[in-house]
Amino acid sequence: MTMILDGKKIAEMRQKILKEEIKSSRLSPRLATVIVGSDPASQMYIRMKHRACEQVGIGSVGIELPEDATTGQVLEAVTQLNNDDNIHGILVQLPLPKYVDSERVIAAVRPDKDVDGFNPFNLGLLFSGRPRFVPCTPKGIMTLLAEYNIELAGTRAVVIGRSIDVGRPMAALLTNADATVTVCHSKTKDLTYEVNRADILVSAVGKAHFITREMVKPGAVVIDVGINQLNGKLVGDVDFASVKDIASAITPVPGGVGPMTIATLMENTYRAAIVRTCETV
Ligand code: NAP
Repeated sequence: MTMILDGKKIAEMRQKILKEEIKSSRLSPRLATVIVGSDPASQMYIRMKHRACEQVGIGSVGIELPEDATTGQVLEAVTQLNNDDNIHGILVQLPLPKYVDSERVIAAVRPDKDVDGFNPFNLGLLFSGRPRFVPCTPKGIMTLLAEYNIELAGTRAVVIGRSIDVGRPMAALLTNADATVTVCHSKTKDLTYEVNRADILVSAVGKAHFITREMVKPGAVVIDVGINQLNGKLVGDVDFASVKDIASAITPVPGGVGPMTIATLMENTYRAAIVRTCETV
């Protein structure tokens, strides 16, 4: 029978444990978010992150900059937070407006407050097999796989997508976990051939029902990162209804990877607070 990898349940369980840990630690971890403009999806993600902070006992502050903020203004906000001893984690909500230099902003976040793990220093550590702060979505996926005791060593893993927030760090984490990893993207010649060989399939494309039953190897573990709207409904990259019978395990959308991403952000923030406290005592 196919195992449904219930990210919502696991995230709730981990957040409960984290709440207790934070309480007994007597630390006061604090996350700062920076958002530029009023994109409704970004605003919604920011609200969800602040709500999660409240639930686990992490303090949070939000900096909101207008749509026409310059790169300099965003950098100034980040610098202020870098220098604020009461802030342990900094998250800049992406995507930033096109005219803001995202790469400069991401690189400006202090590596020890970079709870999103996008700073090139932290990505470098991850790619050299010594991860410190790891992007929340792929790290959340690894946690979910571990919670369900899914063996990775020696498996053939296929990651579709090569973004910095999902595909590339996911491939690095799977490599670090001794899987043999193939990364596919829009220029991959025969995607069905590659996908069909996957014991572990991670799809981070952003196209509704892109992965169909015919593409999936029987018994594969299928991780659906995609968030797409289809006929007014939230769906993943994977055609869940047809793929679920052929997979050995699969994440639903919603309720799979998404909640794990937020739970991981909370864990990263708490970790940043611990590291900071250890350094200052
Ligand atoms: P992205 O930066 O747009 O990357 C999409 C990737 O898909 C690219 O690498 C692209 O290839 C590849 N691709 C596009 N068309 C393809 C095709 N026909 N065949 C093979 N590969 C193809 O997106 P992202 O930020 O990684 O996010 C991907 C999806 O995950 C989105 O739906 C996003 O909303 C969702 N997401 C969910 C969470 C969560 O917590 N659940 C977190 C982050 C993202 P090229 O590189 O060649 O263009």
